[in-house]
Amino acid sequence: MKFFSTRGKDVVSSAAFAISKGLADDGGLFVPEFFPNVVDDLDKLLDMDYAERACFILSKFLDEYDYDGLLNACKNAYGKFEDADAAPVVKVDDKLSILELFHGPTLAFKDVALTLLPYLLRKGCDIAGVKEEVLILTATSGDTGKAALEGFKNQDGIKIMVFFPSDGVSDMQKLQMCTQEGDNVNVVAVKGNFDDCQTAVKKIFQSQEVRKTLSEKGVVLSSANSINFGRLAPQIAYYFSAYCDLVNAGEISLGDKINFVVPTGNFGNILAGYYAKRMGLPINKLVCASNSNNVLTEFISSGVYDVDREFYKTVSPSMDILVSSNLERLVYELSGRDSTVTERRMNDLKKNGRYSVSSSELKSLGEEFFADYCDEDDCLKTINVFFEEYGYVLDPHTAVAVYVSEKYLEYSKDEKQTVVLSTASPYKFPQTVIEALTDKKYDDAFKCAKMLFEKTAYPVPEQIANLKKKEKRFSTVIEKDDTISAVMSFVDKF
Ligand SMILES: *Cc1c(COP(=O)(O)O)cnc(C)c1O
Repeated sequence: MKFFSTRGKDVVSSAAFAISKGLADDGGLFVPEFFPNVVDDLDKLLDMDYAERACFILSKFLDEYDYDGLLNACKNAYGKFEDADAAPVVKVDDKLSILELFHGPTLAFKDVALTLLPYLLRKGCDIAGVKEEVLILTATSGDTGKAALEGFKNQDGIKIMVFFPSDGVSDMQKLQMCTQEGDNVNVVAVKGNFDDCQTAVKKIFQSQEVRKTLSEKGVVLSSANSINFGRLAPQIAYYFSAYCDLVNAGEISLGDKINFVVPTGNFGNILAGYYAKRMGLPINKLVCASNSNNVLTEFISSGVYDVDREFYKTVSPSMDILVSSNLERLVYELSGRDSTVTERRMNDLKKNGRYSVSSSELKSLGEEFFADYCDEDDCLKTINVFFEEYGYVLDPHTAVAVYVSEKYLEYSKDEKQTVVLSTASPYKFPQTVIEALTDKKYDDAFKCAKMLFEKTAYPVPEQIANLKKKEKRFSTVIEKDDTISAVMSFVDKF
């Protein structure tokens, strides 16, 4: 299957090339030539385990990867999750389930893709004939960084460098990254927010000069962000898996439509849901849940994307994003796959901080999506009430989604089964969760983790408990204009 750039000036012959490159040469994102329809295969998926389901879905796009190798890689990757299930569905109410995507090595949904991406990239480079050392540059709002570091640590022929906003991640997230082991990794804090990190990384990708210098040193760039199709593809699978689990549990019949509610930042997770729908999964609405950085709520309701607004630091830091990269892929589809229009809009965004879509595009946007947001107070309240009502502890990102799912149901009176995607363990944000549950503020993350255990009897994950004794290896803080030189000095070390 071919992959096109959303901006029309780069076409590659297969997913292997798209994955090994990460970003297209023209600055656009790679999209598949078409969406394979699997609606007739749904019943086959019912009896499969998670790794088999994931392999089945992935193979539809990765037709040049051999099936057995891919299946083996999926089994390896998802063997790293609790009970070898990357996406268990937990029923909490008659019509409401939670899709728990945080049982992997770093306790966030990013693990679902990033436990597998090393294989997809390595194999992709082999298929595409890439002989150089691969340097992965990653901007993170907190969770991608750790999941990518853990996935790529000590992988031959690969180096990875992560940029995170110095004051924009939780204490646990920061500790997770700064104590990272492995001899091919580097972690740098940037004075700025996630958008600054992401823009800096994209700039490096687009600089001919940087690429030339790196190429002389035998290094090519790739990305572990959801701009890379290899990050996106594994995320499509859990929408299918959740659907199958609901069928198997007798909650729905094959063919029934359901809703998914997704806490959204860079628009990668929910875009994977949109791709699943395009592949034939019976989805009614995709509900886009934002925090106070509600640029997507506005876009989906008005058709205007406008980043000229205040940036808020919230208790759901992994969603503190104004420039959602993956929206470009959706806008490309909305425009009828018109790369000229898409490129113009992305240029408008860069130059003027905004673009808008036509009224017919807005209409189709409204048919697929519902969007709303949840502010800080409502987020804490939701964690509290949900625990009282169901004995279930939400992390702040998932709480944003639960709140918006209630808004959606109120508005639509929709009675279909609804699945909320849970994107992180509450133990990554213990201070916020304890504040929500006790109405008291504490600074110490580990003390809050202990309190959270005492209050809820949810076991503290080993990955969190162990952090306390780990050596801190990374403490560099740079200005946002110094990312290129930071990359060069990392490269010069090997
Ligand atoms: C990354 C992340 C999100 C946002 O996902 P996108 O794919 O960027 O929209 C939400 N919640 C958590 C916990 C995350 O780590």
